[in-house]
Order: sequence, then C-alpha cells, then structure tokens
Amino acid sequence: MRIEVRGLVQGVGFRPHACRLAERLGLGGSARNTASGLVIEVEGDGECVGEFLRAVRETPPPMAHVRDVRTEYMEPLGERLFRVAGSAGSGVAEALVPPDLAVCDECLSEFWDPSNRRHRHPFINCTNCGPRHTIILDMPYDRVRTSMSGFAMCGRCRAEYGDPANRRFHAEAICCPECGPQLRLTDSRGRMVASGDPAAVAAEMLATGAILAVKGIGGYHLACDAANAAAVRELRCRKRRDAKPFALMAKDAGAVLRVAEMDGGELRLLRGPERPIVLLAKRNGVLPEEIAPDSGRFGVMLPYTPVHHLLTGGDCPVLVMTSGNVSDEPIAHEDDDALRRLGPLADAFLTHDRRIHTRTDDSVAHVAAGHPRFLRRSRGYAPFPVQLPCGTTGAEILATGAELSVTACLTRAGSAYMSHHAGDVGHLSAWEAFLCAVGDLKTIFGVEPAVAACDLHPSFATTRYARETGLSLVRVQHHHAHIASVLAEHRRTDRVIGVAYDGFGLGDDGRAWGGEVLVCDLVTSRRAGGLRGMPLPGGDATARKPARMAYVMLRSLFGDDAASRADRLLPRLSPEERLVLDRTLADAPECTSMGRLFDAAAALLGICDDNTHHAQAPLALEGRAGLAKPDECGYYTAPAVCGGSGHWEVSGAEILRGMIVDYLGGRTVGACARAFHESVARATLDICLRVRKDTGLETAALSGGCFMNALLLERCAGLLRENGFEVLANGIVPAGDGGLSLGQAAVAAWRRHVSCNTHGDTGD
Ligand code: ZN
Ligand code: ZN
Ligand code: FE
Repeated sequence: MRIEVRGLVQGVGFRPHACRLAERLGLGGSARNTASGLVIEVEGDGECVGEFLRAVRETPPPMAHVRDVRTEYMEPLGERLFRVAGSAGSGVAEALVPPDLAVCDECLSEFWDPSNRRHRHPFINCTNCGPRHTIILDMPYDRVRTSMSGFAMCGRCRAEYGDPANRRFHAEAICCPECGPQLRLTDSRGRMVASGDPAAVAAEMLATGAILAVKGIGGYHLACDAANAAAVRELRCRKRRDAKPFALMAKDAGAVLRVAEMDGGELRLLRGPERPIVLLAKRNGVLPEEIAPDSGRFGVMLPYTPVHHLLTGGDCPVLVMTSGNVSDEPIAHEDDDALRRLGPLADAFLTHDRRIHTRTDDSVAHVAAGHPRFLRRSRGYAPFPVQLPCGTTGAEILATGAELSVTACLTRAGSAYMSHHAGDVGHLSAWEAFLCAVGDLKTIFGVEPAVAACDLHPSFATTRYARETGLSLVRVQHHHAHIASVLAEHRRTDRVIGVAYDGFGLGDDGRAWGGEVLVCDLVTSRRAGGLRGMPLPGGDATARKPARMAYVMLRSLFGDDAASRADRLLPRLSPEERLVLDRTLADAPECTSMGRLFDAAAALLGICDDNTHHAQAPLALEGRAGLAKPDECGYYTAPAVCGGSGHWEVSGAEILRGMIVDYLGGRTVGACARAFHESVARATLDICLRVRKDTGLETAALSGGCFMNALLLERCAGLLRENGFEVLANGIVPAGDGGLSLGQAAVAAWRRHVSCNTHGDTGD
C-alpha cells in the first residue's frame, strides 16, 4: 500500500515513527519526505497493513497535524525491511514548514543527567522538539537545507540518526557537545571572555545585576534578573522605552505562580510546546514596578531553549527577557547586526555559531472569553497555515497588511501562510523584516503569487509595495479585512454583522474609521453603524497624546465651559496645547476611532497622558477596570440613533459625559474605567440589535485592535450571546493589525472564487 500523508508531517519525527510502527507489525517498505508531504509504502500481512494505516491516521507523532491521507494498492516488491529514505526534492512544494518548538521533557531529563553525553548540552533536541522554521532555508526539511548543514555529525550522532529504534532517528538538527554548535560568551564588543562553561558564567553575571544579550531561537533577547530593581531600571534606561512592559521568563510554573496569578487555561497555554508569552494578572509587590508600570499584568513565558534552562536554573529563577532591539525595531537575529545594535545595551553576549535564518519574535497570547487569543502570532505558530474557505490554485495571493504590527500572508492551494511579525514598517529595519518575510514565504512554499491584496490607504508602504509588484491588485477596506480575518478563521462565507473597533483605518469615504459596525461577507461590506464622528485635530500627534483627545471631547461636550473641567481633569495639558487645539478644532477632520475614545477616557481618568507605545492608554484603562468589582460599576447609557440611510450611531461623547460626572462625583478610577468598558459593550449590543432587526442577520463577528482588550471582548461577546447572537472572534490570528493580511487574502480569494463561478468557469 502506498500512503500519501499531507499536513504538518515533516520535521516532527513522522518517518521514524512510521519505521518503528512497521517493525512492530512486521511490515517492509519505506518512508520518504516529498515536497508535498510524506510518502510511505508498506507491504506484508493484510491485517497488519490495515492496522498500520489506522495508526498513521489516528495516532501520528505528537507534533504532527495530519490533514489528508490518500492510499493506493500496489504490486508487492517482496520487501521485508522498512527503511527511511532521503527526501525527493522535486514536485509541488506543499509540505508544511514546522514551527519551532520548546525542548521536550525527554531531552530535558537527559540534559540534567550528569551521566548523559548531552548533559547540559545547550543544543540538545530530538524529532519532537527544537528549532525548525528559524533554521530552514528551503523545503523539504532535511539537514542540508538548514543552518545545521555546516556541522558534520560525529560518529555517535550519526549512529543515533540512522537507528530506527532511537528517538533521534532522522532528527535533522541532531548534535552533541562534540559535533554541534558552540556556545560563546563575549563582551559587548564581541571579544571572547575566556571560560570553560559560558552559560554558567552568564548565569553568575545575571545574578550580580548584569544585562546580557542572549541568542535564542528566533533572535536575541536582552536579559537581566527580574528581582533586581536597579538592573531592570538600567535596562529600561538603555532600551529607551518609557513604559512598554518587559516580558519575563520564569524557571517553571511554580516560579510563575510566585509573581502572577493563573488559571488552568492559562497554565496550558504557558506550558504548550509553542511557549508563547502569556499575559497574566500581576501579584503586586513581588517584582519591581519598573517591569510593567501602569499595567495590571505581566507577560510571562517558560524556558524554551536548553540555554534558557541553564540561565533560569540558578540564582535568578525569574528573568526579564525582552526582545533584543531598540524601542520599536524588530528583534535582532544576525550576529553582526546584534553586536552593532545591542552592543551599547548589553554588558555581555551569550551567543553561538548556529545561524538564525528566519527572525521570529516571541508570540504573545492571553486567555479571553474562555479561549486563547493572540496579540502577536510568531514563534511556535508561524508559519502554520489557516485553511481558507476556498481553493486558490492558479492565482495565489500575497497580502501585505497595513502599517502597524505588519505580517505578510501568502496562499498556496487554499492554505494561507502567515509570516512572522515584522512590526511597524515605518521603521526601516521593520520594513526590511517585511521584505525578508515575503521573500522567505515565496522561497519556502515555492509560490509565485498572481494577485496582491492590500489596504485601501494609498500611502502605506505596504500598499505601495503591493501596487509596485505589478500583480493584479485587490484593495480591501481596513475594517472589512479585520472582520474577514475572523470569517476566514472560522471558514465562514455567509453575511454577518461585523464589529470592527481599532485605532485607525481608511474608510470607503476617505475618512478615518475605527469604531464600525459593518454588514459584510467575504466579498462586500457596508457600514451599518458605529461611533458618531468626533473631531480629530492634529491626526497622529493626537494619537500619541491621549490628553489632547480628551480635551477635544471635553470641548465637544461642554463647549466654552470645557476649560474649568480641563483644569481639573487634564492638569498636564499645557495652555499652549489647548490653544492650538481650540484654534484647529473647527476645521478638524472627523474620525470614528474607538481607539481614540479609549485614549480620551484613560486621559480623563488621569491614567495615561502619553501613548509611547501602541494601545498603552487602552491597556492601562483595562488594567484599572480589572481592579473594580464588576457588579457595582453600572454603565453610562448612550442609545443608538439612526443617523440616516440605516446607519445606527452611538455618541462616544455621551459615554464620556456619564463617566466624567461619576469621576468628579468621587467614584474610583477603577469603577469608572469598568463602567466605561460596560458602556461601550452595551452600546455595541444596542447597535447590533438594530442591525439585526434591519437585516435579519444573527451572527456577530468581533475584530480590530480594541478586541485585544480582554475585558471589552468578554463583555461584548457575553452581552451579544445573552441576546441570542452567534459570536465569532479571532482565536488563531491577532484581532489587531497582525491578523489583517489573512483577512485581505481571504477577501481576494473569495472574490475571485465567486466571480469565476458566476462566469461559468468552475475555477478551483
Ligand atoms: Zn526532544
Ligand atoms: Zn555528535
Ligand atoms: Fe486595524
């Protein structure tokens, strides 16, 4: 029997698994990787062949994802033995690229065993664990096409690699202290610091307050002892970021529990082999405030490389592990570049000579409304695909995202492959990361796209890039793309009520949108409601200064009487700034941004005057709201009114009016913040009820950056469900702009699918 297995079947130990299985059942044959997956041939006793097939389908190796199994009976060849063959390099590249996975328990027990030859070996791995995506240069996955190709296996490793009974049978990244990469400790200029055990010396340095650059799986981190306030302050000062929280790495779940709270779902997410950063409620007073100022949460991850285990295994069980970059640049991953960029930030470098081919930031997730959700989907997940609701063969699509938190997306035969996180492409280095991501996707998946999908905004670099490819162009309105990302994840093509709340996206009418309720499917979208327009003088400058937006809202609520309230509520807004705003208010363009409404609320409550990083104000607002008792907070009523042509509008200013009265009347910041969230959720429900009445649609899809706010998502989803709506939200890609490219690709694919079908061409 010839068995063709498709899905994530390479780099996950499938061939050795098949080999052990065949030997147990007394079958002969072979298993080899092809560009489209895995081909197994088995022959022998008929019942045993049947059992073999069942096992392939039902009990594949733990890290495999079997999508499709095809079988065919063939003439027996009389083979008695089973062999694992090399890879056939030809054929359509369809195999999935495995993501990078944390070192497994079996490897760890060898790692800590003094009698094992890989005792404390910083590069220990096996068929079930270790680096993959970041070291793969091309497919199919074989050592020669990885950055391990330069390391010749020693005799003992070669024997393990060739032994079907060994758990490193065909582990492509196999190595040992004798033949593998070498760990190095250097000073901040790259000069070797002599030492027998670089990791042990590095751990000692951390314990004395040093800041280290540490080369990991997808790039460099900057690390210091999280319990050492002076070291944390120094790192914050060197990294020049005012308030953006640092991620933590804790030795184990016990160490996590000493600094943060978590439930079962969060623990599962934290412990998964993908090892994302998980946002958890802080235990106050345990770690220095400088780690995550103004936030009720810590981002925590568990060690995922052997080196991490060495660093957290000593006197510093909790480390700050923040990505190695200066403020908003992408993570450094090339050694020379890291030395140049991080040299001024780090006291020493713990590095090695295995090249990181593809840069990959840590993924960031949290549990909201009962499910894991991503704020950033990168290491451990990228480039695992999302299945689109239709095929794309014949016209593959490259989608380019927007401007912030950019990811690229490439389709192949109905699968959408998301790149790692490139970041804010306004920065040159992030732009370069975006170009690399596109190039890597095309190489690894062997796809030349025929269609480019992009945002509506003409001056985004990603839009210009899409236009300049010369491919057939599909422009997708920003908020339509957000909702389409949810529809694509759930493989839905029907029409829904889409609630898209974010900071900014260009609307069909050329205005700044961001608080929209749409009626849309994967082809078309129309606005059916949302926030009423608010003046936005100063554009980006106002986005960076929540206090300015707050002042604008005070002016629109109280006119000339705004001044006295501004004196009390916005003491840090200078008279000059007020004057400028007063002058420009009348001619200011309008926006409907939910992000700006959250900014205004945060500033009015004195939580946050500056947005030094994205969504700082909304996150701070959420953090404060989390401190209040839910039942005692109430909400501020802002009913939806019909603004003409079936457009249901809610006044954000009215919500703020209630909140201001409450706050000036002496209510706590937490209670006001909570009531503000509840009010937005109630207003959302009100609009959705009206739109349901108008259209008969009963499904609501929630997306956009504001829904990375767990409280807002939980309250909106909760109220909608209580009122009989089916609610869809993002669970695979981020609700923010990091998930946008998936939505763009889905719209482009489905539009083409529909137009092919209506023209009598069955397409794909
Ligand atoms: Zn392992
Ligand atoms: Zn070796
Ligand atoms: Fe957005």
